[in-house]
Amino acid sequence: MDIRSYRHWMYDRILPNRAGFAPHFLEGVREFVQFAYKQPQYANGKEIWCPCSKDQNKKLMTLDHVVEHISKYVFMIDYWYWTTHGESKPVGVDVHGTSSSNSAFLSNERHNT
Ligand SMILES: [Zn+2]
Repeated sequence: MDIRSYRHWMYDRILPNRAGFAPHFLEGVREFVQFAYKQPQYANGKEIWCPCSKDQNKKLMTLDHVVEHISKYVFMIDYWYWTTHGESKPVGVDVHGTSSSNSAFLSNERHNT
């Protein structure tokens, strides 16, 4: 599976016609902060690095703040898997081409290796 399909919810946060947040996005964000919070070597007591486009993993924040930031500022570009939060490369997931821009994902570009 391609990492972009695996984590498609990360950059797919608003329902069509701006009808609110997509449920899979909210669920995914909750999963993300819970994952990050369980990594003792990366989380600092009550706070985790905020991966929003504004802070880019350079600021420690409480879970509530992180959820708020991701909803407001979206995830930083190409943070498909969460290395700063202790995640290793997902097994069985193709992470090839993760350094290309997010617009490639939106146009559904496929990479043939
Ligand atoms: Zn932030």
